[in-house]
Amino acid sequence: MSTIFDKILDGDIPCHRVYEDDHVLAFLDINPLSEGHVLVIPKERRAFLHELSDDQAAAIGRVLPRLARAVMNATGCEHYNILQNNGAPAHQAVFHVHFHIIPKLADRGLGVQWRPTSLEGGEELAARIRSGL
Ligand code: AMP
Repeated sequence: MSTIFDKILDGDIPCHRVYEDDHVLAFLDINPLSEGHVLVIPKERRAFLHELSDDQAAAIGRVLPRLARAVMNATGCEHYNILQNNGAPAHQAVFHVHFHIIPKLADRGLGVQWRPTSLEGGEELAARIRSGL
């Protein structure tokens, strides 16, 4: 399925590019939650993080801290969130893997509704996850 990010990658629509290499493109979000809200995408066209190749994942991991530092320098923010949504119920709107870098600036930034529960059956659950690796 083609997305708006394919059009950006293909140069069919413009973006405010902040970084590009052989595997990764980063650009300003068109509806920022705060100044300096950046999207970091792999050039590999995959909807969800779990579909990404190790190489593309590594390429993003390599550049994310550098991009975060650049956003901090540019905006003066000291705090920020990295957000990566997978699936419509998890608030994904564009089905091409992307990482948000969202500066926390005064009352602007990511609002998080965090509703912790207590861990039950951790031993068995961790084993189940390990067996899927
Ligand atoms: P998500 O909900 O994680 O899928 O976020 C998708 C993000 O893409 C939103 O923050 C949008 O504002 C952003 N977005 C959508 N279209 C564009 C575009 N053409 N240029 C830059 N950002 C975009």
